[in-house]
Amino acid sequence: VERQHEGPTAPELAIRTQRLAKSYGPIRALDGLDLEVRVGEVFGFLGPNGSGKTTTIRILLDLIRPTDGSAEVLGLDPRRDGLALRRRVGYLGGEFVVEGRQTAAELLRYLGNLRGGIAPERVEELTERFGLDPSRRISSLSRGNRQKVGVVQAFMHDPELLILDEPTSGLDPVLQHEFAKLVGETAAAGRTVFMSSHVMSEVQRVADRVGILHRGRLSTVEGIVALQQRASRRVEIVFDPGTAIAPADFEAIPEVSEVVVDGDRMRCRLDGHADQLVKTAAHFGVATFTAEEPDLEELFFESYGSESSGSDGAAAHEERR
Ligand code: ATP
Repeated sequence: VERQHEGPTAPELAIRTQRLAKSYGPIRALDGLDLEVRVGEVFGFLGPNGSGKTTTIRILLDLIRPTDGSAEVLGLDPRRDGLALRRRVGYLGGEFVVEGRQTAAELLRYLGNLRGGIAPERVEELTERFGLDPSRRISSLSRGNRQKVGVVQAFMHDPELLILDEPTSGLDPVLQHEFAKLVGETAAAGRTVFMSSHVMSEVQRVADRVGILHRGRLSTVEGIVALQQRASRRVEIVFDPGTAIAPADFEAIPEVSEVVVDGDRMRCRLDGHADQLVKTAAHFGVATFTAEEPDLEELFFESYGSESSGSDGAAAHEERR
């Protein structure tokens, strides 16, 4: 007998999905997703391209319907309570798409009215903060400036929950930083932020907890600090011309492996804490230091394995494909 829906979410959960599944024909975009996001936290929803992040978010917003399982947002059912949720939730996707000849100010006023009216000072504060000229027609704005309109409309009604789908991909680094600050302030004010990304760097500045999605399933959810300490990444250091370095200089560092030296260039794998590598490199003249984004699939399988009985978890998971 299928376990039935267990009644309203405990008030400490802003999002809860149970065995959430979505198929597009033969493609299982979501494969039994159990997700719990607590009120007041910033939750990073990480996963490689195609892992099901956008599908999850579309279900939470009732833009699509699940094939199976259930989703609750702020204790409500998105399929029934969409109207109430639109006032209490702010949403921003990676590309804010709107048509039309209206100005940013007109659009923001229109959206504000739909949500029951918004203090003009709040809109002004946000547009100024992100350097948006509200008198410009939306159709004349660059992609980055359009995304600023998206940021303002997502935050302007001070929603209890923000659902952000790769929100900063179209913003330059300065605005990404400002956005991260805004997310931090929002959380400090007791709001909940659910933010997806396919790279760890987008969420690491702001997230309290992180879950990794892979083929429609979630691996262990854990604190961002713990996750980063497990993360493995490729590092390349270029030293000043003529610097004499040898693999042995770096091979003794416990977190470092696969050291390759090529002239004044050193490549290696770094697992976790970077401190010793950085200090060792600093004995020589460092010209550039590059660290790749950690591989999310690798992290997924590591945590999947440790959750179940040994490494069998990951193997069993793979077998089902
Ligand atoms: P990205 O980072 O690339 O946006 P994602 O994690 O958001 O990826 P989804 O967009 O949710 O992933 O897609 C999950 C899977 O479902 C992918 O295999 C995708 O090709 C498939 N998919 C998504 N939407 C549809 C659709 N409308 N029709 C068919 N397949 C779809």
